[in-house]
Amino acid sequence: MRALPASPGSLPRRTVAAALVAAPVLWLGARAQPQAGRLATPAQTEGPFYPVRLPQDADNDLLRNGTLDYRNGQPAWVEGSVTDLAGRPVRGAQVEIWQCDHGGHYHHPGDGDRADAAFQGFGRVAVDADGRYRFRTIRPVAYSGRTPHIHVKVKLGARELLTTQLYVAGDPGNARDALWRRLPEAARAAVTVPFEQAADGWQARFPIVIAA
Ligand code: FE
Repeated sequence: MRALPASPGSLPRRTVAAALVAAPVLWLGARAQPQAGRLATPAQTEGPFYPVRLPQDADNDLLRNGTLDYRNGQPAWVEGSVTDLAGRPVRGAQVEIWQCDHGGHYHHPGDGDRADAAFQGFGRVAVDADGRYRFRTIRPVAYSGRTPHIHVKVKLGARELLTTQLYVAGDPGNARDALWRRLPEAARAAVTVPFEQAADGWQARFPIVIAA
C-alpha cells in the first residue's frame, strides 16, 4: 500500500473547536446543505457473479491471492472516497469490488470457476477517517455481452448502502452495453471514469456518493 495523502485542511484543532463552540448552529447548518451538483452515485444490478463464498484472501490487493502473484492483465489503482450528499465521509463504510480476470472469467460456479487462481477477483476495504478507499487490481476487460466494468458494493455493517458498476471512460464498448446505455447521461457520467496512465499502471478515481 502506498501512503494515502494527508487529509486536507491545516487549521489547528483548537481553532476548529473554538469556531464550533462560537457558532455551532451556523456551522452544522452549512454542513447539512447538499452541495450544488452533487449527485448520488446511481445503483446498478449486482449481476450473477457476486462471490458465492468470499475468498480467504479478501483484502484490497487483488493482484495477490494468498501466496500467488497475478501477472496478467494491466495493473490499476482504483481509488476514491465514500461520502454523503453533503460531502461528509461515510464513517465505517466498507467498499467491495469484484471483477473478471484478464481472460474475462469470474471466480464463480456460474462461470465454471475458470478465473485465474492468482487473481483474487474480489476485495474489500474499510474507508479511512476521510472516507477514502483504494484497491490494486487490473484495468477491467470486456467479456461476452459486457463492456469493461468493475462491480462495486458499499456496506455499513450488514446494511447494503449501494450496489453499482464502474465503467472506463472512452471505451467503445460502452455504447453497446445494455446496462450502461439505459443510464441517463448524468448517471453515466457518475459511474464512468477515466483510467489514466500512472508510473505503476493505470489509475482511476471513483468518488462514491451515498444518498442516505
Ligand atoms: Fe460483471
